[in-house]
Amino acid sequence: MDFTNQTVLVTGSSRGIGLAIAKAFDAAGANLILHARSEIKPEVLAEFQQTPQTLQFDISDAEAAEASIKALYKQEGFKGIDVLVNNAGITKDQLAMAMAPADFASVVNVNLNGTFNVTQPIFKKMIRQKHGAIINLSSVVGLMGNMGQVNYAASKAGIIGFTKSLAKEGARRGIRVNAIAPGMIVSDMTAVLPEETQTEILKNIPLSRFGEASEVADAALFLANSAYITGQTLTVDGGLYI
Ligand code: NDP
Repeated sequence: MDFTNQTVLVTGSSRGIGLAIAKAFDAAGANLILHARSEIKPEVLAEFQQTPQTLQFDISDAEAAEASIKALYKQEGFKGIDVLVNNAGITKDQLAMAMAPADFASVVNVNLNGTFNVTQPIFKKMIRQKHGAIINLSSVVGLMGNMGQVNYAASKAGIIGFTKSLAKEGARRGIRVNAIAPGMIVSDMTAVLPEETQTEILKNIPLSRFGEASEVADAALFLANSAYITGQTLTVDGGLYI
């Protein structure tokens, strides 16, 4: 796949799945815009063939997201974003009966509202440029539920409805919108799970292993490149949700 001359913004690309997706697009020739809440380390930027631009804002802050994206589009010579990958996300796990309402709200606010906050200003520009691909990171948990994750599962199920609706709105304007639902992927997010939980989860994965971030990246490039696919959710989960 060749993404030469295409500009790709990946939110939450300082590490983990987002960084793997950004690197895969970079290897395919794209111009990258990296983003995170914190400053992206120079050693991360040095791993790219073409030095990426960076954005830094909290996606749950709608005003900050809009201001940062507006400033990006005002840069001289900026030609627009061809592919947006909404990847940034968090977990704050707890059984529902013990979950603090603030932890329910903050996970939904970052994962779901944050996806909207970043997408809306870019979607408006994509409408004007009459093309674009948007890929949203959901999760198998949004499809199948998971104990201790009512907040996260609600946010990730919401992303699937968001994806389908935006796909219908964008189609006539040449914009495709799809989601990826990863299963258990090796990253900082899953490293915090106790070993016994990880062993228990493994029993339910037909391919008998956690996935690699690069395997989620493969799906992102596939969806960005597939001109006749929109409104879909692609599971990348080793068969966990079969
Ligand atoms: P990580 O925790 O490794 O990385 C999260 C990224 O999101 C970081 O770049 C982080 O930035 C950024 N981020 C978090 N909160 C915010 C915020 N409020 N504003 C801006 N940026 C933010 O996550 P993963 O790589 O594991 O997951 C990436 C995506 O994939 C998430 O949406 C997750 O829900 C989804 N997913 C992951 C699975 C897994 O097994 N790992 C399974 C299914 C889905 P910073 O470095 O500044 O904190």
